[in-house]
Amino acid sequence: MARPNSRDRELRERAAAVIPGGMYGHQSVGLLPDDYPQFFERGEGAHIWDADGTRYLDFMCAYGPNLFGYGHPEIDAAYVRQLGLGDTLTGPTALMVELAEAMTAMVAHADWAIFCKNGTDATTMALTTARAHTRRRTVVRANGAYHGAAPWCVPRPAGTIDSDRAHQILCDYNDVASLAAAVAEAGEDLAAIFAAPFKHDAFIDQADPDPAYARRARERCHHTGALLVVDDVRAGFRLARDCSWSRIGVQPDLSTWGKCIANGHPISALLGSDKARKAAGSIYVTGSFWYQAAPMAAALATLRLIRESDYLERITALGERLRTGLGERASAAGFALRQTGPGVMPLFLFEGDPDLRKGFCFSSEMLARGVYLHPWHNMFLCAAMTEADIAGALDTPEGAFEALTRQIRDLARGEKLAVLSAGAR
Ligand code: PMP
Repeated sequence: MARPNSRDRELRERAAAVIPGGMYGHQSVGLLPDDYPQFFERGEGAHIWDADGTRYLDFMCAYGPNLFGYGHPEIDAAYVRQLGLGDTLTGPTALMVELAEAMTAMVAHADWAIFCKNGTDATTMALTTARAHTRRRTVVRANGAYHGAAPWCVPRPAGTIDSDRAHQILCDYNDVASLAAAVAEAGEDLAAIFAAPFKHDAFIDQADPDPAYARRARERCHHTGALLVVDDVRAGFRLARDCSWSRIGVQPDLSTWGKCIANGHPISALLGSDKARKAAGSIYVTGSFWYQAAPMAAALATLRLIRESDYLERITALGERLRTGLGERASAAGFALRQTGPGVMPLFLFEGDPDLRKGFCFSSEMLARGVYLHPWHNMFLCAAMTEADIAGALDTPEGAFEALTRQIRDLARGEKLAVLSAGAR
């Protein structure tokens, strides 16, 4: 439970009266351990401060947008400069053209760009573009993969109707036979195959993409005239300076981007190849804020850093250090951790932890020691993290594992895990 008499507790109580469920979406009440703060007051570099002023090393990076550090001076200066000139105007500024030029120059498969606000805008536009291009309906995508919160793909069906989800066939990620069967079932109606750059579903182990799966998706799209869509909203530019599947040599027709492309400023994008240009030009897509100039200025500054700095090599090395160090500390404490996904977007799950109790308890213990982890969603490293931050984070688990061991012992004695009891800390 949020600490008694805390500002967080007070805000939760007020939120419960004026925000449905007290909170919605990925920060909904109950999705994280109860002692996790719900409200924050600021962020700087790799750290966040909760509403009570407690500082954490933040391994969630705002669920991805923070790539170069909160409040990055160069990126935010570009944003603020443009804000002074004009942001939401009657039409876009020249920055829109510059940004489309910059993104298509960086992403090998892309010849054009459409900018929007959220990842869901981009994935939904990808769906519409593929249907406009093929004049067909059916989409094949992987079970459990998240593509946003629109009715066609939202994981929780409340308020949607069956027809919102019609003409979709689900297959298993990395399972070539299941992909082939789904494509065969779609037959002449196949409009698109959607793929995550790697399996980054919540609650379960992550998996790198099997190149054979990616190649089969590419080949089937080529053969049938359907479009291949890589949803790079979450992983884009954390794995490569190009579309993530460039690492396995597979180029999609469309790719979707968001999260970190402006280091946290609100902008997302659909990129496409010439093949889909006419269809993309035929669909009607827009939004009151889609031409905003300040996020475009921030995106240009972010892309410059992506091209010109060694951020990718640094975060990759830090991710490996974290993985190795944590694995060592877990086994020294007698725990088996399954660490999956790329080191820059890690997920740790405990062996023998079907209800995530150990994971919740361990995360809470780390939180109490100033490290913000997530017990069931992939985490993110950012370029503002230092060797010292990782070393500090690796000094922390020993105490957390000890506390976890004690709690398991207590549980065996019939007591409840402290993390599950109100006001335990
Ligand atoms: N696709 C993927 C792979 C995502 O991770 C997300 C967001 N987590 C989305 C799409 C939707 O993005 P947004 O929340 O910005 O609409």
